[in-house]
Amino acid sequence: MFLRAHAKINLSLDVLRRREDGYHEVKMVMQMTGMYDRMNLLPLKGRPGIRLSTNLPYIPADENNLAYKAAKLLMDEFEVTDGLEIRLDKFIPVAAGLAGGSSDAAQALIGVNRLFGLGLDTAELMKRAARIGADVPYCVMGGTALSEGIGEVLTPLPSMPDNVCILLCKPNINVSTREVYTALRVDQLDFHPDVDAQTEALRAGDIRGITAKGVMYNVLETVTGEKYPVIKSIENDMLEAGALAAIMSGSGPTVFGIFDNADRAEVCRNSLRRTRPSARTFLTWPAGGEKV
Ligand code: ATP
Repeated sequence: MFLRAHAKINLSLDVLRRREDGYHEVKMVMQMTGMYDRMNLLPLKGRPGIRLSTNLPYIPADENNLAYKAAKLLMDEFEVTDGLEIRLDKFIPVAAGLAGGSSDAAQALIGVNRLFGLGLDTAELMKRAARIGADVPYCVMGGTALSEGIGEVLTPLPSMPDNVCILLCKPNINVSTREVYTALRVDQLDFHPDVDAQTEALRAGDIRGITAKGVMYNVLETVTGEKYPVIKSIENDMLEAGALAAIMSGSGPTVFGIFDNADRAEVCRNSLRRTRPSARTFLTWPAGGEKV
């Protein structure tokens, strides 16, 4: 069974406060993109256990892989006696702020549910997804969503207009989500994005409103952007090339620009590939993601 695990971007990302248990309360808009990892699931009749292989030697192929962990969680709960082979071909950059691992986990849940006829609906899969990671329930749901609480309170939203392009550029640095949140001083933030204005603009299909200054904004950039000036510099390249807005996704370091003109987006991609050969640059679009 072939599945596509799509990458997400954050059209806005606000952190409201740090709870006493250390978790951060967020308010952010998630959008799936057309970039995806390919996953192939094969049942192994009468051969229990999970075997995972991947095209990237530097990510785990055992229970530390989020796809493995997700498959095991469901197979243990439902006492599936057959085994499972997972072949994972990763195209989403790793540790990039694009939720690649979370999306793989979500597709493993969806795939195992289908493959072994477990009969779980979306809400039941999302409940189990929350045990794997904060972004996994959203990845099960897919599409566009407002995410609140610690990421588990999700409200579906209409997608961005599908005639826009999303240009992704990941500089050659790796960022740990945990370290970025630890370094964030929420009480010292002097600006918060207007996430409500963005959800309204999405409902109205208003791309200018979605990308307006102070609306498309990520507070985590105060941490990652300060440490790595290349992030601002890529954003400036995209803005100069005609992006409506350009910000960092998640905890970074990937930067994305929203273009309402495909030619300009392509020219910008080609120019970034020339001027920043160590970065990885992709042109994609808003997408819905795989359904349960
Ligand atoms: P987020 O946006 O949710 O913070 P990310 O895109 O920054 O996620 P991931 O690509 O999901 O980060 O990977 C983070 C870490 O998780 C990596 O260090 C990697 O070793 C580990 N990992 C476990 N399973 C996977 C997987 N299936 N794909 C990628 N990384 C995985």
